Amino acid sequence: MDQPAVENAMKIDLRELEEGETEFTFEQTATDLQLEPEEFVFAGPIKTTVTVQRLNESLSASGITRFRIKADCARCNEGIELPFETEFAFVFQKGKPRGVEGDEDETLIWLDDDSDELDLGTEVRDYILLEVPVNPVCEAYASGTCPNLAEVETIERETGGENASDPRWDALRELKQND
Ligand SMILES: [Zn+2]
Repeated sequence: MDQPAVENAMKIDLRELEEGETEFTFEQTATDLQLEPEEFVFAGPIKTTVTVQRLNESLSASGITRFRIKADCARCNEGIELPFETEFAFVFQKGKPRGVEGDEDETLIWLDDDSDELDLGTEVRDYILLEVPVNPVCEAYASGTCPNLAEVETIERETGGENASDPRWDALRELKQND
Protein backbone atom coordinates (compact mmCIF):
# COMPACT_ATOMS: atom_id res chain seq x y z
CA MET A 1 0.00 0.00 0.00
CA ASP A 2 1.34 3.39 -0.99
CA GLN A 3 2.09 5.77 1.84
CA PRO A 4 0.88 9.33 1.31
CA ALA A 5 3.70 11.87 0.95
CA VAL A 6 2.91 13.46 4.26
CA GLU A 7 4.42 13.36 7.71
CA ASN A 8 2.97 13.76 11.15
CA ALA A 9 5.85 15.78 12.60
CA MET A 10 6.61 19.23 11.23
CA LYS A 11 10.31 18.69 10.96
CA ILE A 12 12.52 19.59 8.04
CA ASP A 13 16.01 18.15 7.83
CA LEU A 14 18.40 20.98 6.97
CA ARG A 15 21.17 18.60 5.96
CA GLU A 16 19.01 17.37 3.09
CA LEU A 17 17.44 20.70 2.17
CA GLU A 18 18.50 21.86 -1.29
CA GLU A 19 19.17 25.40 -2.42
CA GLY A 20 16.10 27.20 -3.74
CA GLU A 21 12.50 26.41 -2.92
CA THR A 22 11.23 23.11 -1.57
CA GLU A 23 7.60 22.37 -0.80
CA PHE A 24 6.54 20.22 2.11
CA THR A 25 3.14 18.86 3.04
CA PHE A 26 2.19 17.85 6.54
CA GLU A 27 -0.95 16.17 7.74
CA GLN A 28 -1.43 16.01 11.48
CA THR A 29 -3.86 15.31 14.25
CA ALA A 30 -4.51 17.67 17.13
CA THR A 31 -2.52 15.30 19.33
CA ASP A 32 0.50 15.52 17.00
CA LEU A 33 0.50 19.28 17.57
CA GLN A 34 -0.33 18.98 21.27
CA LEU A 35 -3.56 20.84 20.64
CA GLU A 36 -6.22 19.84 23.12
CA PRO A 37 -8.51 22.81 23.55
CA GLU A 38 -11.56 22.40 25.80
CA GLU A 39 -13.89 24.55 23.72
CA PHE A 40 -13.83 22.61 20.49
CA VAL A 41 -12.47 19.55 18.71
CA PHE A 42 -10.76 19.28 15.37
CA ALA A 43 -12.69 17.61 12.59
CA GLY A 44 -10.35 15.66 10.36
CA PRO A 45 -6.63 16.25 9.86
CA ILE A 46 -4.77 19.53 10.17
CA LYS A 47 -3.13 20.09 6.78
CA THR A 48 -0.16 22.34 6.21
CA THR A 49 1.64 23.20 2.99
CA VAL A 50 4.89 25.06 3.43
CA THR A 51 7.51 26.32 0.99
CA VAL A 52 10.99 26.55 2.45
CA GLN A 53 13.48 28.79 0.71
CA ARG A 54 17.19 28.33 1.12
CA LEU A 55 19.54 30.83 -0.45
CA ASN A 56 23.11 30.52 0.77
CA GLU A 57 22.88 31.08 4.52
CA SER A 58 19.39 32.58 4.36
CA LEU A 59 16.45 30.39 5.34
CA SER A 60 12.77 31.26 5.27
CA ALA A 61 9.42 29.50 5.12
CA SER A 62 5.91 30.48 4.19
CA GLY A 63 2.78 28.43 4.07
CA ILE A 64 -0.80 27.82 4.95
CA THR A 65 -2.53 25.54 7.45
CA ARG A 66 -6.09 24.37 6.85
CA PHE A 67 -8.31 22.70 9.43
CA ARG A 68 -11.92 22.30 10.52
CA ILE A 69 -13.32 22.47 14.02
CA LYS A 70 -16.45 21.11 15.66
CA ALA A 71 -17.96 23.26 18.38
CA ASP A 72 -21.27 24.41 19.82
CA CYS A 73 -22.57 27.71 18.53
CA ALA A 74 -22.01 30.27 21.30
CA ARG A 75 -25.51 31.63 20.69
CA CYS A 76 -27.88 28.79 19.90
CA ASN A 77 -25.81 25.84 21.13
CA GLU A 78 -26.24 24.00 17.88
CA GLY A 79 -23.38 21.74 16.84
CA ILE A 80 -21.37 23.41 14.10
CA GLU A 81 -18.39 22.59 11.94
CA LEU A 82 -16.29 25.45 10.62
CA PRO A 83 -13.36 25.62 8.20
CA PHE A 84 -10.34 27.76 8.93
CA GLU A 85 -7.09 28.60 7.25
CA THR A 86 -4.14 30.52 8.57
CA GLU A 87 -1.14 31.78 6.63
CA PHE A 88 2.32 32.17 8.10
CA ALA A 89 5.80 33.29 7.10
CA PHE A 90 8.99 32.88 9.11
CA VAL A 91 12.62 33.79 8.74
CA PHE A 92 15.14 31.51 10.45
CA GLN A 93 18.47 32.70 11.72
CA LYS A 94 21.43 31.26 13.52
CA GLY A 95 23.88 33.19 15.65
CA LYS A 96 21.48 34.73 18.13
CA PRO A 97 23.22 37.75 19.72
CA ARG A 98 23.55 37.85 23.50
CA GLY A 99 20.85 39.83 25.26
CA VAL A 100 18.28 39.38 22.51
CA GLU A 101 15.03 38.06 23.93
CA GLY A 102 13.86 36.67 20.63
CA ASP A 103 10.16 37.23 21.20
CA GLU A 104 9.94 40.77 19.87
CA ASP A 105 9.45 39.65 16.31
CA GLU A 106 7.34 36.53 16.14
CA THR A 107 8.19 35.92 12.49
CA LEU A 108 11.90 35.65 13.27
CA ILE A 109 12.90 32.30 14.68
CA TRP A 110 16.37 31.80 16.14
CA LEU A 111 17.98 28.44 15.50
CA ASP A 112 20.67 26.88 17.63
CA ASP A 113 24.04 27.20 15.91
CA ASP A 114 24.41 23.42 15.66
CA SER A 115 20.79 22.84 14.69
CA ASP A 116 20.26 20.58 11.71
CA GLU A 117 16.49 20.66 11.54
CA LEU A 118 13.56 23.05 11.46
CA ASP A 119 10.58 22.21 13.62
CA LEU A 120 7.57 24.28 12.63
CA GLY A 121 5.19 22.55 15.02
CA THR A 122 5.25 25.09 17.84
CA GLU A 123 4.83 28.08 15.56
CA VAL A 124 2.02 26.57 13.51
CA ARG A 125 0.25 25.49 16.69
CA ASP A 126 0.24 29.11 17.90
CA TYR A 127 -1.17 30.33 14.59
CA ILE A 128 -3.97 27.77 14.75
CA LEU A 129 -4.96 28.83 18.26
CA LEU A 130 -5.01 32.50 17.22
CA GLU A 131 -7.26 31.71 14.28
CA VAL A 132 -10.13 30.07 16.17
CA PRO A 133 -12.56 32.58 17.72
CA VAL A 134 -13.28 32.34 21.46
CA ASN A 135 -17.02 32.07 20.80
CA PRO A 136 -17.62 30.48 17.42
CA VAL A 137 -21.12 31.05 16.07
CA CYS A 138 -23.16 29.19 13.50
CA GLU A 139 -23.65 30.49 9.99
CA ALA A 140 -27.27 31.32 10.77
CA TYR A 141 -26.26 33.56 13.63
CA ALA A 142 -23.44 35.17 11.68
CA SER A 143 -25.86 36.01 8.88
CA GLY A 144 -28.61 37.14 11.27
CA THR A 145 -31.04 34.34 10.47
CA CYS A 146 -30.52 32.16 13.57
CA PRO A 147 -33.99 30.85 14.54
CA ASN A 148 -33.09 30.89 18.23
CA LEU A 149 -31.99 34.51 17.99
CA ALA A 150 -35.50 35.36 16.82
CA GLU A 151 -36.93 33.42 19.74
CA VAL A 152 -34.79 35.35 22.21
CA GLU A 153 -36.08 38.60 20.78
CA THR A 154 -39.68 37.41 20.83
CA ILE A 155 -39.55 36.43 24.51
CA GLU A 156 -37.92 39.75 25.32
CA ARG A 157 -40.74 41.58 23.57
CA GLU A 158 -43.52 39.51 25.18
CA THR A 159 -42.22 39.52 28.72
CA GLY A 160 -40.76 42.97 28.73
CA GLY A 161 -37.33 41.85 29.84
CA GLU A 162 -35.42 39.05 31.43
CA ASN A 163 -36.70 39.71 34.95
CA ALA A 164 -40.04 38.27 33.97
CA SER A 165 -40.57 34.72 35.27
CA ASP A 166 -41.27 33.12 31.95
CA PRO A 167 -40.00 29.50 31.99
CA ARG A 168 -38.73 29.89 28.47
CA TRP A 169 -35.93 32.03 29.87
CA ASP A 170 -34.39 29.04 31.61
CA ALA A 171 -33.63 27.42 28.29
CA LEU A 172 -32.21 30.58 26.85
CA ARG A 173 -30.46 32.04 29.86
CA GLU A 174 -27.16 30.54 28.87
CA LEU A 175 -27.25 32.42 25.62
CA LYS A 176 -27.52 35.68 27.47
CA GLN A 177 -24.31 35.08 29.35
CA ASN A 178 -22.40 35.73 26.19
CA ASP A 179 -23.94 39.15 25.64
ZN1 LIG B 1 -26.25 29.47 16.34
